[in-house]
Amino acid sequence: MKFFGISTAIFAVLSIANQLSQAATTASPCDPNTCKLPNCLCPSLSPPNGMKPSDVPQFVTITFDDSIQPELLATAQDVLNVKNPNGCAAKGSWYVSMLYTNFALVQQWYAQGNEVADHTFTHVGSPSSQEIAAARAMLNQYGGVPLGKIKGFRAPFLNYTQDTLREIAAQGFQYDTSASGVVDDCYWPYTLDYGLANDCWNNVCGSELKLPGVWEIPMYAVQDSAGTAQLMDVYLAGSPSDVTAWSNANFDRHYNGNRQPFGIYIHPTHLTNYPGLADTTAQKKAVISFIQSLQGKPDVWFVTNDQLLQWMQNPVPASQLASQPYMQCTTPKIGKEICNGLENITVANNVVSGGLLNSCNFNSANWDTCFNCPSSEPTLENPTPKSAVASTDPSFRHVVPNDCDSLWWDPIAGQCLCSNTTCAYNDTAVPISTNTTVNRAASATGGISRETNAENSSSVKFTTSLMGLGLSAGVAAMMAL
Ligand SMILES: [Zn+2]
Repeated sequence: MKFFGISTAIFAVLSIANQLSQAATTASPCDPNTCKLPNCLCPSLSPPNGMKPSDVPQFVTITFDDSIQPELLATAQDVLNVKNPNGCAAKGSWYVSMLYTNFALVQQWYAQGNEVADHTFTHVGSPSSQEIAAARAMLNQYGGVPLGKIKGFRAPFLNYTQDTLREIAAQGFQYDTSASGVVDDCYWPYTLDYGLANDCWNNVCGSELKLPGVWEIPMYAVQDSAGTAQLMDVYLAGSPSDVTAWSNANFDRHYNGNRQPFGIYIHPTHLTNYPGLADTTAQKKAVISFIQSLQGKPDVWFVTNDQLLQWMQNPVPASQLASQPYMQCTTPKIGKEICNGLENITVANNVVSGGLLNSCNFNSANWDTCFNCPSSEPTLENPTPKSAVASTDPSFRHVVPNDCDSLWWDPIAGQCLCSNTTCAYNDTAVPISTNTTVNRAASATGGISRETNAENSSSVKFTTSLMGLGLSAGVAAMMAL
Protein backbone atom coordinates (compact mmCIF):
# COMPACT_ATOMS: atom_id res chain seq x y z
CA MET A 1 0.00 0.00 0.00
CA LYS A 2 1.36 3.37 -0.82
CA PHE A 3 0.28 6.60 0.67
CA PHE A 4 0.14 8.74 -2.38
CA GLY A 5 1.58 8.41 -5.80
CA ILE A 6 2.20 11.75 -7.41
CA SER A 7 3.73 11.99 -10.83
CA THR A 8 6.17 14.82 -11.37
CA ALA A 9 3.63 16.78 -13.37
CA ILE A 10 0.94 16.35 -10.79
CA PHE A 11 3.34 17.24 -8.06
CA ALA A 12 4.03 20.53 -9.81
CA VAL A 13 0.31 21.24 -9.91
CA LEU A 14 0.04 20.38 -6.27
CA SER A 15 2.97 22.54 -5.41
CA ILE A 16 1.32 25.53 -7.02
CA ALA A 17 -1.96 24.70 -5.32
CA ASN A 18 -0.02 24.42 -2.13
CA GLN A 19 1.38 27.90 -2.48
CA LEU A 20 -1.97 29.34 -3.51
CA SER A 21 -3.59 27.70 -0.56
CA GLN A 22 -1.00 29.09 1.78
CA ALA A 23 -1.29 32.53 0.26
CA ALA A 24 -5.05 32.40 0.57
CA THR A 25 -5.20 31.23 4.14
CA THR A 26 -2.12 32.55 5.90
CA ALA A 27 -3.19 35.88 7.29
CA SER A 28 -0.42 36.28 9.82
CA PRO A 29 2.80 34.56 8.80
CA CYS A 30 4.98 33.22 11.53
CA ASP A 31 7.55 35.74 12.72
CA PRO A 32 10.69 34.06 14.08
CA ASN A 33 11.44 37.16 16.12
CA THR A 34 8.37 36.61 18.25
CA CYS A 35 7.92 32.86 17.85
CA LYS A 36 10.84 31.47 19.84
CA LEU A 37 11.90 28.22 21.39
CA PRO A 38 11.25 26.34 23.54
CA ASN A 39 7.53 26.91 23.08
CA CYS A 40 7.21 28.29 19.58
CA LEU A 41 8.98 27.50 16.30
CA CYS A 42 8.05 28.65 12.82
CA PRO A 43 7.84 26.15 9.95
CA SER A 44 11.23 26.11 8.25
CA LEU A 45 13.24 23.98 5.88
CA SER A 46 16.33 24.87 7.91
CA PRO A 47 17.45 23.71 11.35
CA PRO A 48 16.27 25.72 14.36
CA ASN A 49 18.11 28.68 15.87
CA GLY A 50 20.05 29.32 12.67
CA MET A 51 22.24 26.28 13.23
CA LYS A 52 24.27 25.03 10.29
CA PRO A 53 22.95 21.75 8.88
CA SER A 54 26.38 20.20 9.20
CA ASP A 55 26.32 20.90 12.95
CA VAL A 56 22.99 19.28 13.74
CA PRO A 57 22.18 15.59 14.20
CA GLN A 58 20.57 13.66 11.37
CA PHE A 59 17.62 12.20 13.20
CA VAL A 60 16.02 9.04 11.88
CA THR A 61 12.58 8.28 13.30
CA ILE A 62 11.25 4.76 12.91
CA THR A 63 7.57 4.55 13.77
CA PHE A 64 5.09 1.69 14.01
CA ASP A 65 1.32 1.87 13.74
CA ASP A 66 -1.69 -0.05 15.04
CA SER A 67 -1.97 -2.87 17.56
CA ILE A 68 0.93 -4.29 19.58
CA GLN A 69 0.90 -8.08 19.39
CA PRO A 70 3.72 -10.57 20.09
CA GLU A 71 4.70 -11.21 16.47
CA LEU A 72 4.39 -7.51 15.56
CA LEU A 73 6.55 -6.51 18.50
CA ALA A 74 9.16 -9.04 17.37
CA THR A 75 9.15 -7.47 13.91
CA ALA A 76 9.59 -4.01 15.38
CA GLN A 77 12.48 -5.19 17.50
CA ASP A 78 14.16 -6.76 14.48
CA VAL A 79 13.82 -3.48 12.58
CA LEU A 80 15.17 -1.43 15.49
CA ASN A 81 18.21 -3.60 16.03
CA VAL A 82 20.75 -0.81 15.56
CA LYS A 83 22.69 1.42 17.91
CA ASN A 84 23.18 5.14 18.30
CA PRO A 85 26.60 6.82 18.40
CA ASN A 86 26.51 6.81 22.21
CA GLY A 87 26.09 3.04 22.29
CA CYS A 88 22.43 3.12 23.27
CA ALA A 89 19.94 1.04 21.33
CA ALA A 90 17.77 2.74 18.73
CA LYS A 91 14.33 3.70 20.00
CA GLY A 92 11.06 3.85 18.14
CA SER A 93 7.56 5.31 18.48
CA TRP A 94 4.41 3.19 18.32
CA TYR A 95 1.03 4.73 17.49
CA VAL A 96 -1.22 2.21 19.17
CA SER A 97 -4.82 1.34 18.38
CA MET A 98 -6.66 -0.76 20.92
CA LEU A 99 -8.22 -3.72 19.15
CA TYR A 100 -5.97 -6.80 19.41
CA THR A 101 -3.38 -4.91 21.43
CA ASN A 102 -1.72 -6.88 24.20
CA PHE A 103 -1.24 -4.36 26.99
CA ALA A 104 1.51 -6.29 28.73
CA LEU A 105 3.55 -5.74 25.56
CA VAL A 106 2.70 -2.04 25.57
CA GLN A 107 4.28 -1.88 29.00
CA GLN A 108 7.38 -3.73 27.85
CA TRP A 109 7.80 -1.55 24.77
CA TYR A 110 7.60 1.52 26.96
CA ALA A 111 9.92 0.08 29.62
CA GLN A 112 12.56 -0.51 26.96
CA GLY A 113 12.73 3.24 26.40
CA ASN A 114 10.47 3.38 23.38
CA GLU A 115 7.54 5.72 22.92
CA VAL A 116 3.88 4.80 23.24
CA ALA A 117 1.46 7.15 21.50
CA ASP A 118 -2.24 7.38 20.66
CA HIS A 119 -3.81 6.04 17.47
CA THR A 120 -7.46 5.97 18.68
CA PHE A 121 -9.62 3.25 20.17
CA THR A 122 -11.31 1.74 17.11
CA HIS A 123 -8.89 3.03 14.46
CA VAL A 124 -11.11 5.55 12.72
CA GLY A 125 -10.22 8.56 10.62
CA SER A 126 -11.38 12.02 11.73
CA PRO A 127 -11.73 10.59 15.24
CA SER A 128 -14.04 11.92 17.92
CA SER A 129 -12.63 13.27 21.15
CA GLN A 130 -13.76 10.07 22.83
CA GLU A 131 -11.82 7.90 20.35
CA ILE A 132 -8.65 9.74 21.28
CA ALA A 133 -9.30 9.85 25.03
CA ALA A 134 -10.31 6.18 25.26
CA ALA A 135 -7.03 4.97 23.77
CA ARG A 136 -5.03 7.18 26.08
CA ALA A 137 -6.93 5.92 29.11
CA MET A 138 -6.37 2.26 28.22
CA LEU A 139 -2.67 2.70 27.47
CA ASN A 140 -2.39 4.17 30.95
CA GLN A 141 -4.67 1.78 32.82
CA TYR A 142 -3.62 -1.54 31.27
CA GLY A 143 -0.24 -0.69 29.74
CA GLY A 144 0.99 1.26 32.75
CA VAL A 145 2.23 4.16 30.64
CA PRO A 146 2.09 7.36 32.68
CA LEU A 147 -0.43 9.76 31.15
CA GLY A 148 2.22 12.44 30.85
CA LYS A 149 4.37 10.12 28.74
CA ILE A 150 1.63 9.62 26.15
CA LYS A 151 2.53 12.76 24.26
CA GLY A 152 1.83 12.06 20.63
CA PHE A 153 -1.00 11.28 18.25
CA ARG A 154 -1.31 10.00 14.71
CA ALA A 155 -4.68 9.88 12.97
CA PRO A 156 -5.69 6.50 11.54
CA PHE A 157 -5.38 6.56 7.74
CA LEU A 158 -3.64 9.91 8.36
CA ASN A 159 -7.14 11.24 8.07
CA TYR A 160 -7.34 14.30 10.28
CA THR A 161 -9.20 17.58 10.31
CA GLN A 162 -8.85 20.90 12.08
CA ASP A 163 -11.08 19.46 14.79
CA THR A 164 -8.70 16.53 15.25
CA LEU A 165 -5.83 18.88 15.92
CA ARG A 166 -7.97 20.97 18.25
CA GLU A 167 -8.79 17.82 20.19
CA ILE A 168 -5.12 16.93 20.45
CA ALA A 169 -4.47 20.32 21.97
CA ALA A 170 -7.50 20.17 24.27
CA GLN A 171 -6.50 16.77 25.62
CA GLY A 172 -3.00 17.93 26.43
CA PHE A 173 -1.01 16.10 23.79
CA GLN A 174 2.29 17.66 22.89
CA TYR A 175 2.28 16.81 19.21
CA ASP A 176 0.54 15.44 16.18
CA THR A 177 2.28 13.51 13.45
CA SER A 178 -0.35 12.94 10.79
CA ALA A 179 0.63 15.55 8.20
CA SER A 180 2.97 14.83 5.32
CA GLY A 181 5.97 16.77 4.05
CA VAL A 182 7.38 16.15 0.58
CA VAL A 183 10.09 18.49 -0.74
CA ASP A 184 8.80 22.06 -0.81
CA ASP A 185 7.12 21.54 2.56
CA CYS A 186 9.75 19.26 4.07
CA TYR A 187 9.72 21.34 7.24
CA TRP A 188 11.52 20.59 10.44
CA PRO A 189 9.00 19.98 13.24
CA TYR A 190 7.27 23.23 14.19
CA THR A 191 4.57 24.53 16.48
CA LEU A 192 1.05 25.32 15.33
CA ASP A 193 1.01 28.82 16.80
CA TYR A 194 0.45 30.16 13.29
CA GLY A 195 -1.31 27.16 11.83
CA LEU A 196 -0.42 24.07 9.90
CA ALA A 197 1.95 24.53 6.98
CA ASN A 198 1.72 21.02 5.51
CA ASP A 199 -1.01 19.23 3.53
CA CYS A 200 -2.30 22.46 2.09
CA TRP A 201 -4.61 20.67 -0.30
CA ASN A 202 -6.86 19.45 2.51
CA ASN A 203 -8.17 22.73 3.91
CA VAL A 204 -6.45 22.25 7.26
CA CYS A 205 -3.34 24.29 6.63
CA GLY A 206 -3.25 28.02 7.14
CA SER A 207 -3.59 30.39 10.01
CA GLU A 208 -7.23 29.78 10.85
CA LEU A 209 -6.11 27.00 13.15
CA LYS A 210 -3.82 28.32 15.85
CA LEU A 211 -2.70 25.95 18.56
CA PRO A 212 0.09 27.61 20.53
CA GLY A 213 2.77 25.26 21.74
CA VAL A 214 1.39 22.16 20.00
CA TRP A 215 3.94 20.61 17.68
CA GLU A 216 3.48 19.10 14.26
CA ILE A 217 6.06 16.53 13.24
CA PRO A 218 5.54 16.13 9.51
CA MET A 219 5.86 12.64 8.10
CA TYR A 220 8.64 12.87 5.55
CA ALA A 221 7.90 11.31 2.19
CA VAL A 222 10.33 9.37 0.03
CA GLN A 223 10.25 10.21 -3.65
CA ASP A 224 10.65 7.22 -5.91
CA SER A 225 12.57 7.26 -9.19
CA ALA A 226 9.51 8.61 -11.01
CA GLY A 227 9.22 11.51 -8.59
CA THR A 228 6.25 9.90 -6.89
CA ALA A 229 5.99 10.62 -3.18
CA GLN A 230 5.72 7.55 -0.96
CA LEU A 231 5.00 7.87 2.71
CA MET A 232 4.02 4.82 4.73
CA ASP A 233 5.24 1.29 4.00
CA VAL A 234 7.46 2.47 1.17
CA TYR A 235 8.70 -1.12 0.81
CA LEU A 236 5.37 -2.06 -0.70
CA ALA A 237 5.76 0.37 -3.58
CA GLY A 238 8.52 -1.42 -5.48
CA SER A 239 11.07 -4.19 -5.53
CA PRO A 240 13.39 -4.35 -2.52
CA SER A 241 16.34 -3.11 -4.61
CA ASP A 242 14.34 -0.19 -6.04
CA VAL A 243 13.01 0.78 -2.61
CA THR A 244 16.53 0.67 -1.18
CA ALA A 245 17.76 2.94 -3.98
CA TRP A 246 14.94 5.46 -3.42
CA SER A 247 15.46 5.36 0.32
CA ASN A 248 19.19 6.00 -0.02
CA ALA A 249 18.66 8.89 -2.45
CA ASN A 250 16.10 10.51 -0.18
CA PHE A 251 18.14 9.96 2.94
CA ASP A 252 21.06 11.67 1.21
CA ARG A 253 18.78 14.58 0.26
CA HIS A 254 18.14 15.12 3.97
CA TYR A 255 21.62 14.23 5.24
CA ASN A 256 23.55 16.31 2.72
CA GLY A 257 20.91 19.04 2.68
CA ASN A 258 19.12 20.67 5.61
CA ARG A 259 19.10 17.55 7.75
CA GLN A 260 15.38 17.49 8.34
CA PRO A 261 14.56 14.30 10.24
CA PHE A 262 14.21 11.23 8.04
CA GLY A 263 11.24 8.97 8.74
CA ILE A 264 10.64 5.27 8.22
CA TYR A 265 6.94 4.58 8.76
CA ILE A 266 6.00 0.97 9.23
CA HIS A 267 2.86 -1.07 9.68
CA PRO A 268 4.50 -4.15 11.26
CA THR A 269 1.76 -6.35 9.81
CA HIS A 270 3.27 -5.69 6.38
CA LEU A 271 6.65 -7.03 7.48
CA THR A 272 5.35 -10.03 9.41
CA ASN A 273 4.59 -13.36 7.85
CA TYR A 274 1.16 -14.88 8.36
CA PRO A 275 -0.11 -18.17 6.97
CA GLY A 276 -1.96 -17.58 3.74
CA LEU A 277 -0.61 -14.08 3.17
CA ALA A 278 2.21 -13.04 0.86
CA ASP A 279 5.70 -13.75 2.15
CA THR A 280 7.28 -10.52 3.39
CA THR A 281 10.76 -11.85 4.14
CA ALA A 282 12.46 -10.02 1.28
CA GLN A 283 10.87 -6.68 2.11
CA LYS A 284 11.73 -7.00 5.78
CA LYS A 285 15.31 -7.93 4.98
CA ALA A 286 15.68 -4.89 2.72
CA VAL A 287 14.25 -2.53 5.33
CA ILE A 288 16.58 -3.90 7.97
CA SER A 289 19.58 -3.68 5.64
CA PHE A 290 18.78 -0.08 4.79
CA ILE A 291 18.45 0.89 8.46
CA GLN A 292 21.69 -0.91 9.32
CA SER A 293 23.45 0.92 6.49
CA LEU A 294 22.60 4.22 8.23
CA GLN A 295 24.04 3.03 11.52
CA GLY A 296 27.47 4.47 12.11
CA LYS A 297 27.20 7.33 9.61
CA PRO A 298 28.46 10.43 11.39
CA ASP A 299 25.74 12.26 13.34
CA VAL A 300 22.98 9.76 12.54
CA TRP A 301 20.70 9.08 15.52
CA PHE A 302 17.66 6.79 15.70
CA VAL A 303 15.18 8.46 18.02
CA THR A 304 11.55 8.50 19.06
CA ASN A 305 9.44 11.49 18.13
CA ASP A 306 9.43 12.31 21.84
CA GLN A 307 13.23 12.46 21.87
CA LEU A 308 13.20 14.48 18.66
CA LEU A 309 10.97 17.10 20.25
CA GLN A 310 13.16 17.31 23.33
CA TRP A 311 15.99 18.24 20.99
CA MET A 312 13.79 20.65 19.02
CA GLN A 313 12.91 22.55 22.19
CA ASN A 314 16.53 22.93 23.16
CA PRO A 315 18.68 22.24 20.11
CA VAL A 316 22.31 21.33 20.70
CA PRO A 317 25.06 20.55 18.20
CA ALA A 318 25.36 16.91 17.21
CA SER A 319 28.60 16.78 19.15
CA GLN A 320 26.65 17.34 22.39
CA LEU A 321 23.76 14.99 21.79
CA ALA A 322 25.32 11.94 23.39
CA SER A 323 25.32 13.63 26.77
CA GLN A 324 21.74 14.88 26.74
CA PRO A 325 19.59 13.30 29.47
CA TYR A 326 16.95 12.12 27.01
CA MET A 327 19.52 10.16 25.01
CA GLN A 328 20.71 8.02 27.93
CA CYS A 329 19.85 4.33 28.18
CA THR A 330 20.14 3.41 31.80
CA THR A 331 17.94 0.52 32.85
CA PRO A 332 16.41 0.41 36.31
CA LYS A 333 18.12 -2.23 38.41
CA ILE A 334 15.72 -3.15 41.14
CA GLY A 335 16.47 -6.83 41.58
CA LYS A 336 12.86 -7.82 41.32
CA GLU A 337 10.69 -8.62 38.37
CA ILE A 338 7.80 -6.20 38.38
CA CYS A 339 6.22 -7.25 35.15
CA ASN A 340 7.66 -4.61 32.83
CA GLY A 341 9.97 -7.11 31.17
CA LEU A 342 13.22 -5.43 32.18
CA GLU A 343 14.37 -7.82 34.85
CA ASN A 344 15.28 -11.19 33.44
CA ILE A 345 14.88 -13.03 36.68
CA THR A 346 11.97 -15.12 35.52
CA VAL A 347 11.62 -13.84 31.99
CA ALA A 348 12.09 -16.31 29.18
CA ASN A 349 11.93 -15.64 25.46
CA ASN A 350 11.05 -12.03 26.00
CA VAL A 351 7.90 -13.03 27.84
CA VAL A 352 7.22 -11.95 31.36
CA SER A 353 6.70 -14.88 33.64
CA GLY A 354 3.11 -16.00 33.55
CA GLY A 355 2.43 -15.60 37.23
CA LEU A 356 2.80 -11.86 37.01
CA LEU A 357 0.41 -11.40 34.13
CA ASN A 358 -3.33 -11.31 34.25
CA SER A 359 -4.97 -12.74 31.16
CA CYS A 360 -8.15 -10.86 30.28
CA ASN A 361 -10.48 -12.83 28.05
CA PHE A 362 -13.45 -11.37 26.25
CA ASN A 363 -15.59 -12.31 23.30
CA SER A 364 -13.60 -10.40 20.71
CA ALA A 365 -10.23 -10.00 22.35
CA ASN A 366 -7.82 -11.61 24.77
CA TRP A 367 -4.92 -9.71 26.21
CA ASP A 368 -2.51 -9.68 29.09
CA THR A 369 -1.81 -6.97 31.57
CA CYS A 370 0.21 -6.52 34.73
CA PHE A 371 -2.75 -4.65 36.14
CA ASN A 372 -6.32 -5.70 36.89
CA CYS A 373 -8.48 -7.07 34.15
CA PRO A 374 -11.64 -5.05 33.70
CA SER A 375 -14.90 -6.70 34.74
CA SER A 376 -16.27 -6.28 31.21
CA GLU A 377 -14.78 -5.73 27.78
CA PRO A 378 -13.62 -2.14 27.27
CA THR A 379 -15.77 -0.15 24.89
CA LEU A 380 -15.52 3.29 23.39
CA GLU A 381 -18.12 4.46 25.88
CA ASN A 382 -16.37 2.82 28.82
CA PRO A 383 -12.73 2.01 27.96
CA THR A 384 -11.70 1.30 31.55
CA PRO A 385 -14.52 -0.60 33.29
CA LYS A 386 -14.19 -1.33 36.97
CA SER A 387 -11.70 -3.98 38.03
CA ALA A 388 -12.68 -7.63 37.87
CA VAL A 389 -11.40 -8.09 41.41
CA ALA A 390 -12.15 -6.03 44.49
CA SER A 391 -9.45 -3.90 46.05
CA THR A 392 -9.66 -6.16 49.11
CA ASP A 393 -8.79 -9.25 47.04
CA PRO A 394 -5.20 -10.46 47.55
CA SER A 395 -4.75 -10.64 43.78
CA PHE A 396 -5.71 -6.98 43.31
CA ARG A 397 -3.20 -4.96 41.27
CA HIS A 398 -2.47 -1.35 42.01
CA VAL A 399 -2.57 1.13 39.14
CA VAL A 400 0.43 3.33 38.49
CA PRO A 401 0.10 6.37 40.74
CA ASN A 402 0.97 9.89 39.66
CA ASP A 403 4.19 9.91 41.65
CA CYS A 404 5.84 6.79 40.18
CA ASP A 405 6.77 5.71 36.69
CA SER A 406 5.84 2.13 35.79
CA LEU A 407 9.56 1.52 35.30
CA TRP A 408 9.68 1.40 39.09
CA TRP A 409 6.14 0.48 40.06
CA ASP A 410 5.35 -2.90 41.57
CA PRO A 411 1.62 -3.30 40.88
CA ILE A 412 1.34 -6.38 43.09
CA ALA A 413 2.92 -4.86 46.18
CA GLY A 414 1.54 -1.43 45.35
CA GLN A 415 4.99 -0.03 45.94
CA CYS A 416 7.26 2.40 44.12
CA LEU A 417 10.72 0.87 44.05
CA CYS A 418 12.38 4.15 43.18
CA SER A 419 14.14 5.40 46.27
CA ASN A 420 16.17 8.38 45.10
CA THR A 421 15.79 11.55 43.15
CA THR A 422 17.31 10.21 39.94
CA CYS A 423 14.23 8.10 39.27
CA ALA A 424 11.63 10.27 40.99
CA TYR A 425 8.68 10.96 38.77
CA ASN A 426 5.68 13.20 39.16
CA ASP A 427 3.01 12.99 36.50
CA THR A 428 1.12 16.22 36.14
CA ALA A 429 -1.01 15.19 33.17
CA VAL A 430 -4.71 15.53 33.73
CA PRO A 431 -6.86 12.50 33.04
CA ILE A 432 -9.51 13.17 30.43
CA SER A 433 -13.01 11.96 31.14
CA THR A 434 -13.83 9.18 28.73
CA ASN A 435 -17.42 8.80 29.81
CA THR A 436 -18.96 11.59 27.82
CA THR A 437 -21.94 11.20 25.53
CA VAL A 438 -21.16 9.36 22.33
CA ASN A 439 -22.29 10.93 19.13
CA ARG A 440 -21.56 8.04 16.89
CA ALA A 441 -21.52 4.30 17.14
CA ALA A 442 -18.29 2.50 17.79
CA SER A 443 -17.48 0.07 15.06
CA ALA A 444 -14.46 -2.10 15.56
CA THR A 445 -12.49 -2.71 12.40
CA GLY A 446 -10.24 -5.67 11.68
CA GLY A 447 -6.82 -5.58 13.24
CA ILE A 448 -4.91 -7.92 10.97
CA SER A 449 -6.51 -6.56 7.84
CA ARG A 450 -3.22 -4.82 7.06
CA GLU A 451 -5.27 -1.67 6.85
CA THR A 452 -6.79 -2.40 3.52
CA ASN A 453 -9.60 -0.13 4.57
CA ALA A 454 -7.11 2.68 4.48
CA GLU A 455 -7.40 2.97 0.74
CA ASN A 456 -11.12 3.51 0.89
CA SER A 457 -11.24 6.08 3.62
CA SER A 458 -8.45 8.30 2.46
CA SER A 459 -9.14 7.76 -1.19
CA VAL A 460 -12.45 9.50 -0.75
CA LYS A 461 -10.84 12.34 1.05
CA PHE A 462 -8.00 12.91 -1.37
CA THR A 463 -10.07 12.26 -4.44
CA THR A 464 -12.64 14.78 -3.36
CA SER A 465 -10.14 17.45 -2.55
CA LEU A 466 -8.06 16.88 -5.65
CA MET A 467 -11.04 17.06 -7.89
CA GLY A 468 -11.53 20.46 -6.39
CA LEU A 469 -8.15 21.31 -7.91
CA GLY A 470 -9.41 20.33 -11.33
CA LEU A 471 -7.64 16.98 -11.44
CA SER A 472 -9.38 14.01 -12.98
CA ALA A 473 -10.66 11.25 -10.77
CA GLY A 474 -8.13 8.87 -12.31
CA VAL A 475 -5.22 11.11 -11.50
CA ALA A 476 -6.62 11.74 -8.06
CA ALA A 477 -6.96 8.02 -7.45
CA MET A 478 -3.21 7.69 -8.01
CA MET A 479 -2.72 9.74 -4.92
CA ALA A 480 -4.96 7.68 -2.69
CA LEU A 481 -3.63 5.98 0.40
ZN1 LIG B 1 -3.28 2.80 11.60
